[in-house]
Amino acid sequence: MKVLVINAGSSSLKYQLIDMDGETLLAKGLCERIGIDGKFTYKPQMEGKEKIDAADYPMPSHVEAIDAVLKALADPKNGVVASMEEIGAVGHRVVHGGKDFTASCLIDAEKIEAIKKNFPLAPLHNPANLLGIEACQKAMPGKPQVAVFDTAFHMTMPAEAYTYAVPYEYYEKDDVRRYGFHGTSHRYVSGRCIELLGRPEHSKIVSCHLGNGSSIAAVVDGKSIETSMGLGPLAGVPMGTRCGDIDATIMEYLMGRYGYDMKEMMNILNKKSGVLGISGVSSDFRDLEAAAKEGNERAALALAKFGYEVKKYVGAYAAVMGGLDAIVFTAGVGENGPATRAAVCSGLEYLGVKLCDKRNAERADEHLISTDDSPVKVYVIATNEELMIARDAKAIVKG
Ligand code: AMP
Repeated sequence: MKVLVINAGSSSLKYQLIDMDGETLLAKGLCERIGIDGKFTYKPQMEGKEKIDAADYPMPSHVEAIDAVLKALADPKNGVVASMEEIGAVGHRVVHGGKDFTASCLIDAEKIEAIKKNFPLAPLHNPANLLGIEACQKAMPGKPQVAVFDTAFHMTMPAEAYTYAVPYEYYEKDDVRRYGFHGTSHRYVSGRCIELLGRPEHSKIVSCHLGNGSSIAAVVDGKSIETSMGLGPLAGVPMGTRCGDIDATIMEYLMGRYGYDMKEMMNILNKKSGVLGISGVSSDFRDLEAAAKEGNERAALALAKFGYEVKKYVGAYAAVMGGLDAIVFTAGVGENGPATRAAVCSGLEYLGVKLCDKRNAERADEHLISTDDSPVKVYVIATNEELMIARDAKAIVKG
């Protein structure tokens, strides 16, 4: 079966077509600036097929974007399928499943209503994800569509992990609780880690998804029992531009001093904080490392703060899991940042973490970076959320 994986944003749409017999990527690409001037890219993964990289490619809405994707995929010369009939299912990334979704599901009218009900929980993401779903329903009527939620993997957290210490009525009436995100990534890398450890049962893993957005998860026997993001993706470790955990008093204090309204305050915490906010240099770790090397103290502080906070979560999660078998690093910084990985692991020798400097400096999609005698294994595992979405879509459609 071939599965089309869609990750729709408000003005963009990423896609991959994966042949699930052998799990091979057939084509991928991106529709950008939807509703503006339009930019379309198509990268077939087969020899002899030409890619498309076209600016000024009008796509007034997600409907035209999906049409462009299907046209490219089934193009007689450069396409990778004979017709869209070959596509057996579409898998959609949906950011927030709220309390309603504990697993991926086949999309029907009732599920669409439930996704809409969760709009207030993810006002930037869920409406955009639904645009992608509705565009596919229009372009491919009757084709099975599956929703895969970022939050679903974390729905196995115990109540003491997901409950906030605010009046309980907000949980009961308003669904205020910790949900967590990057669930599809944490599920993929912790699943691979369990395979690499060779022990499907009794594994205690800290999964570190460190990218522009970052989150940490504690995964026991393949199930998430704690994660650092919360009701929304602002909580946890500091990120590229998001603040991570802060004292809520800071908001009241700054709003009082500067007369910010809530929208301005949230913009500061989402877009101007994190390592960008501390350093004043960049949200990109490569820029920060370069600036720190040249003696920029705030860039060095931003990097130190990030490593310190991730380390704190590793320690906290070892405590709640009652032990630690492995740490996994993934996403942009986790996969490509040996200095960050070293900063996180340094000082964790007492927990049994012995990083191998030589292995840590090497580059590979999947590799062990701890020493052979390290009681805790440390891995770098490149994430693959699209493959996870395609696997779920195939499993659900095949029943
Ligand atoms: P992601 O959100 O997973 O795409 O991660 C993006 C982030 O990965 C960027 O903001 C960079 O900070 C980081 N990154 C990518 N490549 C490197 C690298 N070679 N060294 C350090 N950080 C990197």
